[in-house]
Amino acid sequence: EDDLIARIARRIGLAGPPSVVRALDDVDVTIHKGEVLGVVGESGCGKSTLGRTLAGLIKPSRGEVLYQGQDIHGKGANNKLRLKMQMVFQNPHASLNPRKRVGDIIGEAVRAHRVVPPRDVDRHVSAIMESSGLDPQWKSRFPHQFSGGQRQRINIARALAVKPDLIICDEAVSALDVSVQAQILNLFLELRRKFGLSYLFISHDLGVIRHVSDRIAVMYLGKVVEIGEASDVFARPAHPYTQALVKEIPSIKRDVNSFQPIKGELPSPLSPPSGCHFHPRCEFAGPRCRSEVPRLTTLANGHQAACHLLTPGDVTQEAAA
Ligand code: SF4
Repeated sequence: EDDLIARIARRIGLAGPPSVVRALDDVDVTIHKGEVLGVVGESGCGKSTLGRTLAGLIKPSRGEVLYQGQDIHGKGANNKLRLKMQMVFQNPHASLNPRKRVGDIIGEAVRAHRVVPPRDVDRHVSAIMESSGLDPQWKSRFPHQFSGGQRQRINIARALAVKPDLIICDEAVSALDVSVQAQILNLFLELRRKFGLSYLFISHDLGVIRHVSDRIAVMYLGKVVEIGEASDVFARPAHPYTQALVKEIPSIKRDVNSFQPIKGELPSPLSPPSGCHFHPRCEFAGPRCRSEVPRLTTLANGHQAACHLLTPGDVTQEAAA
């Protein structure tokens, strides 16, 4: 019976001989001070792996993660350096210890890493709670006494308390109601202005990405297939995958029958398609696409896309609103 289950699992791709999954492949992104870089793509495209790698939670098998020129995993790197990159995750409840009081949750890393002198911790936690839209008097409460939106504010306050430069938001508003989403997105932007923060903002929701991002990176099966100023990417998406994603954004101007979902599913990263990984789903695919991996081509204004149909300096047409 075990043998039969193993054979079925192998047949449907759930098991098999040990394989190497290249979750990120030749990804090179820079986040500037005070910038919001949005990362978008379907589940399994590698965007969360990118976030965890930049936060220092995953050490890349090849390549480097540089913070102001210093490799965060290199010799001489320490926890203080990694504190500069903090993550806010999707599920605001699961990431909070239910047995700890909110003041302790927010102050824990502050104390452990001596972010401020011990006598100032309480005052520091109060100030951060206020900045995050939480009443400092709630310090003695437990996480279950808060709503979903407030819990996410606690997570944000915890990240903010150690004085980071970069906050990596991994689907940080996906589990919240739409009205609360807007409040949290606006809080992120307010904190950016107040503390000069940079963000890597990961989401599958292009509407959310559009609201917060200065630049956008579109990922597909471990690769960045398009990157550029948010306004350029939305107005003139160059890669066929981005064009399809932009067409899927709901618009009050557009007839619901005009939506064209991207055909097919994201292939398994265990056996990515040859050449351009997008070719099985691309309506423009030609013979070259099946054999040759396209490189990022610079179009205009730092806008880059990886597609054989593009040549340097190409400026694509405005997308239909
Ligand atoms: Fe489509 Fe070919 Fe461009 Fe890939 S390289 S996006 S398959 S046209």
